[in-house]
Amino acid sequence: MGKLDGRVVLVTGAARGQGEQEARLFRAEGADVVVADVLDDQGRALAEELDALYVHLDVGEEDDWRAAVDTARERYGHLDGLVNNAGILRFNALVDTPLDEFMRVVRVNQVGCFLGIRTVAPALEDGATIVNTASYTAVTGMAAVGAYAATKHAILGLTRVAALELAHRRIRVNAVCPGAIDTAMSNPARLDPDADPEEMGRALEELYRKLVPLGRVGRPEEVARLALFLTAEDSSYVTGQPFVIDGGWLAGVSIL
Ligand code: NAD
Repeated sequence: MGKLDGRVVLVTGAARGQGEQEARLFRAEGADVVVADVLDDQGRALAEELDALYVHLDVGEEDDWRAAVDTARERYGHLDGLVNNAGILRFNALVDTPLDEFMRVVRVNQVGCFLGIRTVAPALEDGATIVNTASYTAVTGMAAVGAYAATKHAILGLTRVAALELAHRRIRVNAVCPGAIDTAMSNPARLDPDADPEEMGRALEELYRKLVPLGRVGRPEEVARLALFLTAEDSSYVTGQPFVIDGGWLAGVSIL
């Protein structure tokens, strides 16, 4: 018996990183999974490997959302879960951030999450779940990621309001707030053919050894397990909440 037997879950940004691990774990737990992304080749390959469904979905596009929901329901007949995982990060001091850069981050992270809830919730079965991907920077500040942090704070607002508005249908809405997780987002060298991801990985390891109480960067599989908890019956009385998964980073500073 899998924890998600008989359920259909759509995961955005699922071609790689945390979304990929969520798709893999949910499938292993018995769910039918809709792998949604703008990285069509990677997304299609993953869906094929998992015997899942791939849909091209730019989360900032209303039409893409409508088409994704229609395709998922045509294929599986029902939809029982959404993981709003797609996101982008840009580094800049607030005073140096061009408006179009700020708006690009808002469009994917914040508008994408809003459109996901607005389009998918009416199509979900009663008792379904929504997991939004916020961040450590949704609950505290971090210099140089102002646009990103603003959108991640907004995602917690959307999570709480959606939880209140959908509770009468027993649809639960929660958010994961990862700290530093080892994906292309936190280690862009993984995507740069000229960079050495191992070298960058070692530099990041050293940084997180000092910053994070548990002394290491997190793994996308660990975030996937939290998303599974929030999607499965194990969390049946939990809604409207942010769940920090950060190796203790937010607990405070150590002076020892
Ligand atoms: P990633 O860059 O590997 O994955 C992001 C995925 O989102 C990619 O597959 C990308 O193609 C997809 N995506 C980007 N724009 C999209 C769009 N417009 N429509 C659909 N898909 C789009 O990074 P990740 O770490 O796996 O990120 C997943 C989520 O976790 C993001 O929301 C990110 O903000 C959040 N997060 C990551 C970290 C971290 O340290 N890696 C920490 C906190 C929160």
